[in-house]
Amino acid sequence: ASSDPSASSSTDTLVASSGEPSKMKAWVYDEYGDVSVLRAEDGVLVPQVEEDQVLVKVVAAALNPVDFKRMQGKFKATDSPLPTIPGYDVAGIVVKVGSQVKILKEGDEVYGDINEKTLESPKQSGSLAEFTAVEEKLLALKPQKIDFAQAAGLPLAIETAYEGLEKAGFSAGKTILVLGGAGGVGSLVIQVAKQVLGASRVAATASTGKLELLKSLGVDLAIDYTKENFEDLPEKFDVVFDTVGQGDKAVKAVKEGGCVVVLTGAVTPPGFRFVVTSDGASLTKLNPFIEEGKIKPVVDPKGPFPFSQVVEAFTYLETGRATGKVVIYPI
Ligand code: NDP
Repeated sequence: ASSDPSASSSTDTLVASSGEPSKMKAWVYDEYGDVSVLRAEDGVLVPQVEEDQVLVKVVAAALNPVDFKRMQGKFKATDSPLPTIPGYDVAGIVVKVGSQVKILKEGDEVYGDINEKTLESPKQSGSLAEFTAVEEKLLALKPQKIDFAQAAGLPLAIETAYEGLEKAGFSAGKTILVLGGAGGVGSLVIQVAKQVLGASRVAATASTGKLELLKSLGVDLAIDYTKENFEDLPEKFDVVFDTVGQGDKAVKAVKEGGCVVVLTGAVTPPGFRFVVTSDGASLTKLNPFIEEGKIKPVVDPKGPFPFSQVVEAFTYLETGRATGKVVIYPI
């Protein structure tokens, strides 16, 4: 290849001296807005790999509500500069390692949330692309039991579930009510509480058509929110985990001395809100439960959406009706 990159007029994949391409396909936006700002590009530069990072050939990615909130400019003040390739969640194959990388090597199958701090300078070069550069510490080896599409749906949601339960001091024998049990995060709060932390009783809310799913995930009491108000039930819980934004009602369902984890919307004491921190070590800790089939990823049956249908996938997630995770595959 010429040493002058501008000498090439083609956007065809160029191969750098180290063997991986220098240009890739990616979804990009260069202004904030709704899905109409998204465009598919062919000649985007493959991100540089820093010392502590690996380059991942993306096999599957997943969407999270933070992706569209960020795209709408809701976190403008702490976002990295535009243009942006969106996407936090990734599953793929390591194709290059930085000089300070200790454990991962080329060929490893990995998954993770590529942004350590969700809202503070998330990467400009996200997972909705053929390649993404990620700090080794944010990744874990992909469990063999699950495929790349299933793995891509886990990281941000399961790390949120686990971190929220830890912050709530959840432990064996306690009871929990999960608001939004059929969503990306809720479906994993249920499973982590029950299978990993030993909840004695799990209740969760969803609409009528999703109650069977809740039961299949281990829910003891599935509450149809179209027919019942959870806050009016006589039963109270040690922890209420609110993924919906019902903080005011959530506090009415918690026992004296219990706590309420709130992911979005208003917080009323004893509720608290937190923002997830990505950490590959928590995925590694949870991997055995995934390998044993105790934690099952829930991939929304409308997907996986192929890479060409990222706009459709975003539009669907924004309805707030997704079941489990909206996954993009193949890429
Ligand atoms: P999803 O889009 O996956 O949630 C969709 C689900 O919500 C659907 O299954 C839907 O079920 C359910 N739902 C909607 N309204 C209700 C309701 N009134 N009662 C019960 N269930 C309901 O979102 P995520 O799970 O990925 O995220 C949830 C929220 O948490 C988002 O606002 C997200 O931004 C936030 N979040 C915050 C984090 C943090 O660190 N603070 C981290 C991760 C997420 P149905 O169709 O039956 O209504």
